Amino acid sequence: MAETFDISLDSLAGCSVAPQNIAVPGTFAPSTDGATFFLETFGCQMNDHDSEKVAGLLLSRGYRQVESPDAASLVLYNTCSIREKAAQKVFSRLGEYRTKQAPGQIIGVLGCVAQQEGEEIFQRTPWVSLVCGSASYRRLPELLSQLEAGNQRVTGLDNDADETFETPVTRRDNPWRAYLTIIEGCDKACAYCVVPFTRGPERSRASDSVLREVRELVDLGYSEVQLLGQTVNSYADPSARKMRFSDLLLAVADVPGIRRVRFTTSHPRDFGADIVAALEAQPKLCNHVHLPVQSGSTRILRAMTRTYTRGEYLEKIAMLRSAKRQIAITTDVIVGFPGETEDDFAETLSLLEEVRYDSLFSFKYSPRPNTPSLSMPDAISEEEKSRRLTLLQEAQREIQSQRNATLVGRTFELLVSGKSRREHQWSGHTACHRVVNFASQERALLGTYVQVRVTGAGPNSLVGEQVT
Ligand code: SF4
Repeated sequence: MAETFDISLDSLAGCSVAPQNIAVPGTFAPSTDGATFFLETFGCQMNDHDSEKVAGLLLSRGYRQVESPDAASLVLYNTCSIREKAAQKVFSRLGEYRTKQAPGQIIGVLGCVAQQEGEEIFQRTPWVSLVCGSASYRRLPELLSQLEAGNQRVTGLDNDADETFETPVTRRDNPWRAYLTIIEGCDKACAYCVVPFTRGPERSRASDSVLREVRELVDLGYSEVQLLGQTVNSYADPSARKMRFSDLLLAVADVPGIRRVRFTTSHPRDFGADIVAALEAQPKLCNHVHLPVQSGSTRILRAMTRTYTRGEYLEKIAMLRSAKRQIAITTDVIVGFPGETEDDFAETLSLLEEVRYDSLFSFKYSPRPNTPSLSMPDAISEEEKSRRLTLLQEAQREIQSQRNATLVGRTFELLVSGKSRREHQWSGHTACHRVVNFASQERALLGTYVQVRVTGAGPNSLVGEQVT
């Protein structure tokens, strides 16, 4: 069975390759002398990466990053509102400043809760001075200047942006895998989702700019990049080159020094044969696709406005399964969407059996403000949603156990990203995005690629030993 590692990638992320103090000509603001910031991030990888860019921007203005909000003159929360719990957590954090805000300390809210709640945040927590949604991040330098000039109420709440957020410096938290957003926002309008409201319309970054950043990442020592977007495969190159997403994948893989390219999240509607062909042709493209299905019932998919049927989704899966390389497939599922009957849920369970995903993220439906499904009667009880979620997770656990068991005896290349407190124990990811905990007598493996033979399997991870 897999064991839990007590030092993970997250806790090692402090040893970033990025310097702590960065000066960029033309961006340094002398008024911030001695200023410090603390930035906490909630939510998805897009938010993580946005925070890396915000941190880079602050460092380039002369701020210094600190580990505790108590030591910071500027405290920022980059927030998530995809589920009610995540939004509540942010307000509970903000509530602490009712009594503990230090004189002169500035509190700011970024991200989806900022966009969703807008100026209401000032009413609810009057000690907050900055409210800025992700579609307005390109205005952050101007908003920071207003704060630095002493303005107490600063907002960036556009959601009709036509540009992506780019910074001269990104302060990267992950020393081995670099995130790179290639498309922001979403035009898909799924009935349950706040993203089109909080992140605005889709806008892609020019392919030249993406490739330039990839080359810079190689110079910084990165060999693995992960291209990000809420619908990454809906990428539409705004430059004259008009690269398709699959062309961009191949071009990124061709950058000398790049060894692994990942991408997430793909929308089934825009997932075409050209992407599978690229995965087949270029082994540097990791053999893993995250393809959220959300429900196995066409009736519910229609209610969700997912723009595909069960049958059309399964055609995409068939395309991936028929590839010459074995490609790991993972997904997201929501249970208890308004109107989901027992039969609809049974169809989701049968889809799991049919596809046999390598991993799955599952959630109970919860109504969110500014979404079309808010007006649909949410008649399924919490108890029933929990029952369906448990059944789904049990079914998937069994599938994962069986799939992982077939990997015992096989050898994989891992990028080593974790070290256990127990001597000679390490962990890393395969190209197909499985975690393998393994033994090795080597002393300095972090950030290197090693060959590991799998000796045991659990539902969530594998164990193995390094082979020479
Ligand atoms: S594709 Fe749907 S679920 Fe994904 S971000 Fe867009 S609206 Fe939300």
